[in-house]
Amino acid sequence: MEIPAGERSLCVRELWKNGMGWDLARITPFISQKTKRQLMSVVLDNITGSIDRMSWSEQSDGSFTVKSAYAMLTRNELPRQNMEKIFDRIWRVIAPERVRVFFWLVVQQAVMTNSERHRRHLCESSLCQVCNSGEETILHVLRDCPAMSGVWQRLVPPGRIHQFFVASLLEWAYGNLKNSEEQGDNEWATMFVMAAWWGWKWRCGDVFGMTGRWRDRVRFIKDLTKEVLAAHRSVKGSCNGPVREERMIAWSPPAEGWTKLNTDGASRGNPGLATAGGVLRDGEGAWRGGFALNIGICSAPLAELWGVYYGLYIAWERGYRRVELEVDSEIVVGFLTTGISPSHPLSFLVRLCHGFISRDWIVRIAHVYREANRLADGLANYAFTLPLGFHLFNSRLDALNSIVLEDAIGSARLRNIPV
Ligand SMILES: [Zn+2]
Repeated sequence: MEIPAGERSLCVRELWKNGMGWDLARITPFISQKTKRQLMSVVLDNITGSIDRMSWSEQSDGSFTVKSAYAMLTRNELPRQNMEKIFDRIWRVIAPERVRVFFWLVVQQAVMTNSERHRRHLCESSLCQVCNSGEETILHVLRDCPAMSGVWQRLVPPGRIHQFFVASLLEWAYGNLKNSEEQGDNEWATMFVMAAWWGWKWRCGDVFGMTGRWRDRVRFIKDLTKEVLAAHRSVKGSCNGPVREERMIAWSPPAEGWTKLNTDGASRGNPGLATAGGVLRDGEGAWRGGFALNIGICSAPLAELWGVYYGLYIAWERGYRRVELEVDSEIVVGFLTTGISPSHPLSFLVRLCHGFISRDWIVRIAHVYREANRLADGLANYAFTLPLGFHLFNSRLDALNSIVLEDAIGSARLRNIPV
C-alpha cells in the first residue's frame, strides 16, 4: 500500500506514544505481519533518559574491533568455493598439528612450487626438476609426479585409484580427508595426510639435496600412520575431558520473608518468534502472580530480558520488597550483575531493568539451571498460544498446575553438570 504524501516525512518518535507503545493503527496498513512482529519487540526508550550514540553494526555487541573492520573491508560477496567444510575436515584429521597446518596451506594453494615461482617471475621454468616432465603444481608435487604416484599406487585401495588421480586439488583433498573408510587398521584420512606431508618433505629434500636412500616409502608411511593413531588413542585414553557429575536439580523456595521471581524467555529461531514468562512464588511455592508475554520477533537474549523486565515490574507493583530473581541464562545474569556496554544493542533494556533494580527494595539475582526454572519456561512456551502482548495471571494456570505442585514439593530432575 502506498504511503500517503503527508506521512512520508514522519519521524519514528511521532509513531510512538509514551506509555502506550507504537501507534499501530497508523503503522500496520503499510507493513507486513512479520515486520509488525519485529516492531513489537522494540521500544523507544524515553524513560531512562539515555541519549543516541554511535554503535558498530559489524559486532553483535555494538563495540568496534579491528578484526570485524578488516572482515568488513575484505568481504567478498561474489560466489566462491565454500571452504568451511574442507577446513572442518582438515582440523578433524588425526595427525600432528604441523601436518594439519601444512594441509590447510595446501588447500589454500599457499605452498610454493615452481609453477607458482614461475608465475611470479622468480624462476625460468615451471617444470618439475625431479621428473622434468610436467609443470610443478601442488598436485604434481603431492600426487602426480612419478616420485609420489608410485607410492600412492600402492597405498590407495584399487577401486579408488582412478578417481584419486583425476580429482582436482580441492576434490582430492576433500574426498580423501573423510575419516570413515578404513584400510586395515589405519584410518585412511590419517594415512593420506601423512603421505602427502612426507611427499612434500621428500620433495624439499630432493630439491635441496638432503634426501638419502629410502628403502621402502610405502612401508614407512604405513608404520608412521599406525604410530600416529596409537599415540592419539593413548592420549585420548589418559584424559577423559572435564569431570562431570549427575546432580538432582530442583526449584528452591525463597528464604523467609522473601519472594521468588523466576523468569524465562523462549524463541523459535534466533532471531525468531519469541516469548517470555515469569512467576512470583512464596516460601510454600504458592503462586503470587505470573505473566506470559508474546513478544513478536526478536533475539533470544532480548526475550530473556523482557522476561526479567516484566517480572520485576509485577513484583514491584504487587509491593514485594525482598525479591530473589532467578534466570537460567548466564548471559542475562552477567548483563544484570556486571553491566553492559552502552553501545550494545540490548543496553536499552538492561538499563530499564537496572532502573527497576535500583529502586528502594532488595533484588538478589542468581543463575539457576533450566530444571529449577520450569514454571517460567512453561509460561514462556504457553505465551506462543496467546495474542501478541502482555498477559497477567493472578492465579495459577491449569495448564501448568503439575509444575507448580512438583516445585512446591521439591521434585528434582537429573542434570549432568561439569564440576
Ligand atoms: Zn615431477
